[in-house]
Amino acid sequence: MSTTGTEPQDPRAVIETLSYDVFVNDPPPHNNGLLPNGERKGGSPVASTLIYGSEDAVLTDPAFTTEQARELGDWVASKGCNLTDIFITHGHGDHWFAADLLAERFDARIVASAGTIAQMHAGVAARPFLWDKVYPGIPPAAVTAVTVPDNHFTLEGHDLVIVEVGHSDTDDTTVLHVPDLGLVVAGDVIYNGAHLYIGESVLVDGLQPWRDAIDKVEALGPLEIVAGHQNKELDDDAERTIAETRHYLDDADELLQTRDTAVEFFDAMIERYPNHLARTVLWAGASAVYGVREHPDEDVTQILVAGWL
Ligand SMILES: [Zn+2]
Repeated sequence: MSTTGTEPQDPRAVIETLSYDVFVNDPPPHNNGLLPNGERKGGSPVASTLIYGSEDAVLTDPAFTTEQARELGDWVASKGCNLTDIFITHGHGDHWFAADLLAERFDARIVASAGTIAQMHAGVAARPFLWDKVYPGIPPAAVTAVTVPDNHFTLEGHDLVIVEVGHSDTDDTTVLHVPDLGLVVAGDVIYNGAHLYIGESVLVDGLQPWRDAIDKVEALGPLEIVAGHQNKELDDDAERTIAETRHYLDDADELLQTRDTAVEFFDAMIERYPNHLARTVLWAGASAVYGVREHPDEDVTQILVAGWL
């Protein structure tokens, strides 16, 4: 936007309106056999959100394999925007291991909260015995993300606010609030048509912290929420996705109390959610929760990892 001389500025012209669009990467091939019901193991789709103004854009959670980065990057390039920042919602590698490839391609900065950056380092450390054992094609990933003052940055004058919501499906998770769009990019706090990963609830004594995180998202008053794991056929309605994520946690808690084994829990959840994607995620979570219950003296981290293998 340029102004000349002493022309009065039209305030409506100073701040351009924002828009957003979502690219959902299908899960990459998974190398580790079958689920208890005989299906091949898979993964979960990962959603990346492009928030853009008249020229500049910000991208969130750019997935994790080289192939995903190529497809996502081509989509971003097709939008013709100047990508300034890549924001990472939380430390799970499937949301960010490919971030450097996108940052280099578009000369963009990578932004996250201090808590998320610490979790990203933990994710890199877990690669050899977890991620690289399951998924081929993850590029070398260094943690190059930086924090921003007060967890706040801007896109063409519009506020982008990093909101720390604590533990949801892992520690130190955040969401990106875009007040001028009524939008929350929710990472793994809100899911949409895909199974939730409940495994790390063993580290925080249950699912209440996740419910608290959802309350914090709701308090932002969003109209639309982009869930990090979603069925791309569904819309982004905030009220529905919040209600469904809460309901899923309630169902999980009920069935964790009434089903004696991980397989029984897995089967019962599939019966309640026959159309949800990512049953491998359901199984990994069930394996972790029942594994800790059945082997209270064993190392919790090893039980969590084993759920994916
Ligand atoms: Zn995730």
